[in-house]
Amino acid sequence: MPNTNTNFDKNELAKFEALAYRWWDTESEFKSLHDINPLRLNFIDEHAGLKGKKVLDIGCGGGVLAESMVHQGAEVMGIDLGDAPLTVAKLHAKEQNLDVDYQAISAEDLADQQPASFDVVTCMEMLEHVPDPAAIVEACSELVKPDGHVFFSTINRNPKSFLFAIVGAEYILNLLPKGTHEFEKLIRPSELDHWIRRFSMYTNEIVGMNYNPLNKSYNLSADISVNYLIHAKK
Ligand code: SAH
Repeated sequence: MPNTNTNFDKNELAKFEALAYRWWDTESEFKSLHDINPLRLNFIDEHAGLKGKKVLDIGCGGGVLAESMVHQGAEVMGIDLGDAPLTVAKLHAKEQNLDVDYQAISAEDLADQQPASFDVVTCMEMLEHVPDPAAIVEACSELVKPDGHVFFSTINRNPKSFLFAIVGAEYILNLLPKGTHEFEKLIRPSELDHWIRRFSMYTNEIVGMNYNPLNKSYNLSADISVNYLIHAKK
């Protein structure tokens, strides 16, 4: 079935297409995704108990989170609208002998086809690249089973996040390629919480994910002023 959805931005997808072949290189442009993965995986597992769960990872990219959730015993489907990231994801899973169901379909179209089908839905580091993030939140609410879990991570929008997530990460520390994030597209927690509630869910917990340039590591904390992670429940 063809994609009927238009809630994507070609320029945003192109950023990931161009670099996708380096997705699993832990010293590449994707280093940050590898570095934060144990933190977010643990957060998801603690709240939702991944073992035996049916999980959907929206905007899965090369599959860093998706594969790690399979290792925790989940049955994982990963979707993305970028061809190259999905190709990389499929190849990598095959090499690792891991079973992940990767599909090129939008969250909205999948929600029409398979409503209320997943115990857990994750959508990490993607909302800030999409023209209409509220529509993705709505699709997540439709895709998750009643009583299910939805996880989002994205970047706050304020002067500090501009300084840390854009100037610091892209121009000073070179953690991310320049132009990865556009300030206007960043999302305040209050905005995301508003959409969560509008689409029949509630925010159960929100934590910050912060980078410490001194020891070059990430940790979870109460400071949600830059990167943050939300656990929502249907
Ligand atoms: N969620 C992964 C990858 C984040 S990078 C992780 O955190 O490890 C952002 C991903 O979102 C890219 O793979 C990009 O192709 C994808 N993406 C961007 N817009 C999208 C959309 N509208 N629908 C699905 N995927 C999208």
